[in-house]
Amino acid sequence: VRQVDLAVIGAGVAGLSAAATAAAHGLDVVLIERLAAGGQIATVDRIRNYPGFPDGVGGYELGPLLQQQVEEAGASLLLDEVERIVPGSGGFVVAGAAGEIAAKAVLFAAGSHRRPLGLPREAELEGRGVSHCAACDGPFFRGQAVIVAGGGDSAFDEALALAETCGSVTIVHRETQPVARAEAVRRVRALANVEIVPDAEIAAIDGGDNVERALIAGGGRQDWRDCTGIFVYVGLAPNTGLLERLAELDATGRVVTDAAFETSCPGLFAAGDIRSGAVALLASAAGDGAAAAMSIVARLAEGGQ
Ligand code: NAP
Repeated sequence: VRQVDLAVIGAGVAGLSAAATAAAHGLDVVLIERLAAGGQIATVDRIRNYPGFPDGVGGYELGPLLQQQVEEAGASLLLDEVERIVPGSGGFVVAGAAGEIAAKAVLFAAGSHRRPLGLPREAELEGRGVSHCAACDGPFFRGQAVIVAGGGDSAFDEALALAETCGSVTIVHRETQPVARAEAVRRVRALANVEIVPDAEIAAIDGGDNVERALIAGGGRQDWRDCTGIFVYVGLAPNTGLLERLAELDATGRVVTDAAFETSCPGLFAAGDIRSGAVALLASAAGDGAAAAMSIVARLAEGGQ
């Protein structure tokens, strides 16, 4: 069994930042990721509020840059899906399809996934008009009418990207005022081909083999709109399934940590938007990862688990 000081689970911005920091401070680190480095940003067209990039940076650019820093710091990236984290004496066994790794400490940074609307036909029409990825699927809707569900930063950021290629974009959100940051709302409002429908939600999706229309409902009105794409950005759910029997989770399913980023399971730390109370901004994910790594460096230097 391979032995390391620290196993970081999840190569999103928090995990990448943590692995680079811990390795730069001399720990033997393995960073385990099931898909590719970058996490949620891998599918973001343009990140406009990451410090140091006044003109924005492509999510697909930032992930590989962070990975390069991880590798140069001496951490290794392992592509595998973690199936179990088993606490034992002197550390943990982290088990996946590729085998087992023994680690003195574990940092869980597995992030979140996008929530569905929960409508009939939504799952069946995924990839046939229903999408969670404007950057991947937007080009297929060139000149066409699409709907974006949600009123948060993701909905507004991705609507901006879609407006560049789609004929029209309709943002449907439940709030009277969107919850997205003011700068993104201002940019969207300046676009002639984007309409914002507040106080409403998508109540039904219809079509044959592909999406053809959506029912927008709110304020007593029901309105079928023709559209070929429905981009669903209605929030995130944390990937904490592996922690359910290991550590305390809050009411939203996020993992509770103390000031040292340690969960209720000694030696198991967490960073990023999976953490209870975390701000879901990339800058804070990077900061979380770095700070959690420093806490683990200090813990292992004490000779603790
Ligand atoms: P979010 O901020 O949690 O907003 C979710 C939106 O979806 C809300 O408008 C919510 O409305 C709505 N919603 C939830 N369930 C719905 C349903 N079943 N039907 C219709 N609408 C529904 O989610 P997000 O935009 O995915 O962002 C997640 C986190 O990442 C946020 O903290 C955000 O700030 C952050 N983020 C930041 C950036 C950036 O800084 N550039 C980019 C993307 C994301 P209700 O309020 O009515 O539930």
